[in-house]
Amino acid sequence: MKKNFASRTAPLAIACLGILALSPACAVSARVPVAITIDDVPWVGPLAHGDSAVAATKRLLEKLRAHKATATAFVVCDRFVDKKTGSARRDEIMRLWTNAGHALGNHSARHKSLDGVTPEAWLDDVRRCDDALRPFAPSRHFRFPYLRQGKTPERRESARAGLAALDLKTAHVTIDIADWVLAAAYVAAKNRGDTDEQHAIVSAYVEYVVAAARRYRNMARTKVGRDIAHVALFHANALNADHFDKILAALGREGFSFVTLDRALADPVYAERDDYVGPIGLSWLYRIAPVSAKDWAWDEAQEAALSQRFPGSSSSTRTGVRINDELAARPLAPNVWVVTHERPTPSNSLVVRVADGTLVLVSTPFDAVATRAVIAWLKKTFPGAPVVAINSHHHFDGSGGNEALVAAGIPVYASDATAQLLSERGESMRRTIERLRPLDAAWIIPGHGLKFSRDLLDNTVRVVDKARLKQQ
Ligand SMILES: [Zn+2]
Ligand SMILES: [Zn+2]
Repeated sequence: MKKNFASRTAPLAIACLGILALSPACAVSARVPVAITIDDVPWVGPLAHGDSAVAATKRLLEKLRAHKATATAFVVCDRFVDKKTGSARRDEIMRLWTNAGHALGNHSARHKSLDGVTPEAWLDDVRRCDDALRPFAPSRHFRFPYLRQGKTPERRESARAGLAALDLKTAHVTIDIADWVLAAAYVAAKNRGDTDEQHAIVSAYVEYVVAAARRYRNMARTKVGRDIAHVALFHANALNADHFDKILAALGREGFSFVTLDRALADPVYAERDDYVGPIGLSWLYRIAPVSAKDWAWDEAQEAALSQRFPGSSSSTRTGVRINDELAARPLAPNVWVVTHERPTPSNSLVVRVADGTLVLVSTPFDAVATRAVIAWLKKTFPGAPVVAINSHHHFDGSGGNEALVAAGIPVYASDATAQLLSERGESMRRTIERLRPLDAAWIIPGHGLKFSRDLLDNTVRVVDKARLKQQ
C-alpha cells in the first residue's frame, strides 16, 4: 500500500512545479512540507518490562529511516547522565541519532519551564546543554521546554536576548502533538499483555494526529492565507518507538512530505511577530495574530478526552475529571470508570467499555439534566462509540435519567422486575425527587422506549462481567 501510494503521488508533485503550480489540480496534489522534531531525547516516560531506551531509540530510528524522514532530536542534556561515574548513556543515544543522519537541538539541561525558575537559572540550563551538545556538532536550534516562552514581556525578552547571545534560534512548532498523554497507558497495556487496549490506543493516536494535522493545516490557510512549511512535535517515548511508522504513513496520506527543520523554519511565517505573552506553551500558529484562546481549546479538549479514555499514571487521570459542578468521573481500572452524581446525595453510575468498543452505562445519575451531561461527556471522550444503558434498579439513582437516554437514542435495558416496579412506582418517585430539587418534567417514563427483557439484561450483564474479569 505504501509503495503504491508513493509511486502514484510522486509524479503529480513533480508536475506541479513552476507555472503548473497555479492550477487547481496542483493545489490539491502538491505536498505540504513538514519537519519532524522529536523532543525529550534521550528518553521520556516509561518503558515496557525488558525494554531499554537504547533499544527503543533504535526502533524509532528504523521507522524514521523507512520513511526517509530526517528529524531534529531535542535533547534534555541532564537526562541519563550518571553524576557519580560521569558516564552518560545520554551520549550513546545522541550518537545513535547523529549516526542515523538526524540533527540534535538544545532543549535545556533540566527541562525547566521559563516561568518556573529565575531567568538566570533558566539561561544557565540552556548554556550547560549547549556545552554538552558541542562534541556532537548540534544544530543551533533551541526548543523551549513545554513551549513556554515567558508569561511576562520581561521574561520573554530576557530569554530571547540570552538565546541570541548563544546564537540559538527558536525551533517553533506548528503541529503540536500531545503524544505524552497516551504513552503511560500504552506501556501499561503492553506490560499487561493487553493487545486490545494497545490497538485502541494506537488507533486513537493515529486518528488524533490526523485530526491535528488537518486542523493546523487549515489554521495556516485561514491565518496565513496559504499552506506553510509545518514543524511537528513528537516525543522520544515508547508509543513512538513502536508505532511512529503509522504516524509517518498517515502524514504522508494527508499530503505532507518530510523536510529538515532548517528548511521548514525558512518559511517566512516564522518571521512573523509573536503576539502571545502568557503562561501557556502554544503552537506558533496560535501565537501569531490574531490570537484567540478559542483556538487552543481544541487541543485542550483532545488531551482531556485522550487522557480520560486511556488513563495513564499521571495524578490528574488517577483522581479523575469533573464533568460539571455536580458530576465527577474517575477511572477504576482500564476501561472502567465510576461517575458520581454528587447532589442531592452522592450516587454512583458505572461506565464500562466492552471489547467491541461499546460503552455500557450502568445506572443513571438522579435525573435527565445530569444524565444529558454524562452523555455529552461520553460522546466527547469516546467519539463514535455506541452507548447502551442498564437500569440497575427502579430507584431514581438507577433509572432517573431514562428520559435523556431515550431522547439520545440510547437503548436502555432492565430486568422484568425493574420494569414492573418502574411502572408501579415511577410516578410517585418522580414526585418525591421533584420535591428535593427542581427537575425536568417526566424524568422517568415507564415503558417508554425501554427494552425490558430479562434475556437482554442477562446478556448485557454477562458482557460487562466478562470485560471486568478480563481487567483483573
Ligand atoms: Zn520537552
Ligand atoms: Zn437506589
